[in-house]
Amino acid sequence: MAKNYYDILEVSKTATADEIKKSYRKLARKYHPDVNPGDKEAENKFKELSEAYAVLSDPEKRKEYDSIGHEAFTSSGHGYNFQNMNYEDMRNFNFGGTSFEDLFSDFFGGFSPKSSRSRSKAKAAKGSDIVYSIKVPFTDAVKGTTYELNINRDAQCPSCNGTGGKKTACSVCHGTGMASDGSFFASPCRICSGTGEKIIEPCIKCRSKGYVHINEHIKIKIPAGIDNDSKIRVSGKGNAGENGAPEGDLYIKTTIIDNPVYERNGSDLTINMDIDIFEAALGIKLTVPTPYGAVNLNVPAGVKSGQKLRLKGKGMPVLRKNINGDLYVVINIKAPEKLSDNVKDLLIKAQSLSPKLDRSDILAKGTI
Ligand SMILES: [Zn+2]
Ligand SMILES: [Zn+2]
Repeated sequence: MAKNYYDILEVSKTATADEIKKSYRKLARKYHPDVNPGDKEAENKFKELSEAYAVLSDPEKRKEYDSIGHEAFTSSGHGYNFQNMNYEDMRNFNFGGTSFEDLFSDFFGGFSPKSSRSRSKAKAAKGSDIVYSIKVPFTDAVKGTTYELNINRDAQCPSCNGTGGKKTACSVCHGTGMASDGSFFASPCRICSGTGEKIIEPCIKCRSKGYVHINEHIKIKIPAGIDNDSKIRVSGKGNAGENGAPEGDLYIKTTIIDNPVYERNGSDLTINMDIDIFEAALGIKLTVPTPYGAVNLNVPAGVKSGQKLRLKGKGMPVLRKNINGDLYVVINIKAPEKLSDNVKDLLIKAQSLSPKLDRSDILAKGTI
C-alpha cells in the first residue's frame, strides 16, 4: 500500500503549512537529483516528495485529500502524478502559490537547480579579500597621511589574465558545462568540472593556476579623522578570483596610537588642565595645547573644579566632512601643597576678609 502524503513528508496530519513546507525543503534537499546524480532511487523519492507537497501545500487539495483519503484521492485523478513528469514540467509547476525556483532559492549556497537547457556554465567567484592591520600615530589621524606598505597576495596572472591559458570548448559537454548522460536531471560535466572549457595551451607564467604570488608595494590614503577599527578599502588588491574573475579587495584596519594628553570620543577631544586657587579665584587667560597649535582660553573668575570649557572646532576632523569636533578643557583646581610664611600670612588675612562658605545646610541634611 502506498504511503500517505503526510508520511512521505514526515509530518503529522495536523501540521501547519509552514511545517509542511519546512519538511519538504529539508527532504527535497536530501534527495534532490543534483545532489545525487544518477541515483534513480533518490530521483523517485524526490518526485514522490514533490507530488505530496503539491497536494498538501494547496489548501483546497489538502482538504479534499483529508476528507476522501489517499487511495480515493490518487485514483480519482484529483492529484498529480509527478512520477510521469519531467524536470522541466516540475519546474513550471506552481506549488501552493510558490514557484519551484523559489522553493529552492536558498539551496546549495544560493544557486537553484535549473534544467540542462537553461543552466549556465559554473560561474567563477570573485577572489578573497585581504585584511591588513596598521597602527596610525595620533598626528596622522588628525592631519591624514599617505601610508605605504608591502602586501603579499595572489594576483591575477598578467600573462593569461587569470584564465590559466588558451582554452577551447570542452569536447565532452560541448561547452555547456553540463553532463549529458541520458538522465534529464542536469549535473556538472566531470571532465571540465562544469566550466565548459578545457585548456589547450597552458600558461607558463602561472603554470595554469591563473594567479601568481606577489609582494606588492601599495600606497594608501589615510583620511583625516580616522578612528580605531576604521576599514579602508582598496578595491581589487585582494586575491585573484577563479577563472579570471575579479580580484578581491584589500582592507586596511586601523588602530590609533593614543596621544598622552587627549582623550578621544569620536570627533571630540578632552584635555585636563590644572589651575591654582589664585587663578581660579581671579580668572586667567590660559594657554591650552590643541592638535592645531596652542590657543588662549579665558577661564572666568570663580570657575568650578571639574568645569568643562569648550574650544569649538578644535577637536578631531570628522571623517570625510569638512568640519571638526570640539576640544573640551576640564578645569582642575589645585591647592598649593606648600606655602611660604609670607603667602600663608597673606592668605589668612584674605580669608578673614572674604565671606565664609555656608555648610550648615548639607550638615543638617546629611547628619543622621
Ligand atoms: Zn597565467
Ligand atoms: Zn565539459
